[in-house]
Amino acid sequence: MVRAVRWIGDRNGEPVNLYHRHISLMVDEEHHALIEMLPRHETTIKVTVFRGAVAGSDHDGDSHKPPAPSAVKEVMDFVTETHDSLRQQYARRIEYDVRFMCPSPNCSEKKPLKDCFKGKSLKCGLHHISTAAIKFKFGMSEEGVESGNKSPVNPCKESEVLCPLYFSHLAELIGSDWRLLGIRLELNPADIDHITEDNLTAVYRILAMLQLWRQRSSCTDKSKVEKL
Ligand SMILES: [Zn+2]
Repeated sequence: MVRAVRWIGDRNGEPVNLYHRHISLMVDEEHHALIEMLPRHETTIKVTVFRGAVAGSDHDGDSHKPPAPSAVKEVMDFVTETHDSLRQQYARRIEYDVRFMCPSPNCSEKKPLKDCFKGKSLKCGLHHISTAAIKFKFGMSEEGVESGNKSPVNPCKESEVLCPLYFSHLAELIGSDWRLLGIRLELNPADIDHITEDNLTAVYRILAMLQLWRQRSSCTDKSKVEKL
């Protein structure tokens, strides 16, 4: 909640409304977001983005337009960046994932957002959810939908692979098996121990490891990419 107040303050937005266990804030002139802590046993922070009706437009009353994907993305980025930063500082062992409500009427399942990158549809009980529609709502790109024959990111130049941006993308995908990758990339156990000591989270460790490997490996960029 404190971070949300700071976030909106930095943007000179409307003051944030604070309540008991929830806050309401204006994301931009049209959208507002409600951030709620659900009852303790659910261990969930529920985030809803609304688009307000525009007064003075031809349409009177509530126009139930869905929120713009860019506004949803902005809120989601704020929430995930805040979580990552709080974890980094105070709660390294706490994990979280981002879920969305199944859009099907009368279904209240919460599905992991990352599953939307696994295929064109996601099974939910007896029905299916179109992953493209969900990704669109969240302002995420279509990349990685056809995961059958294409990797999520399909770089063509060595410089696009051997760079911090791509490494950070890889780091998010690799997870806890990163030490194995380090061994395959011929880093020695002492390097891996140092990286573990110097960096707090797996993502930063993987990033550090890939950067060390890139600096140290004497082969050409082309063979580095192939090896990776
Ligand atoms: Zn469902």
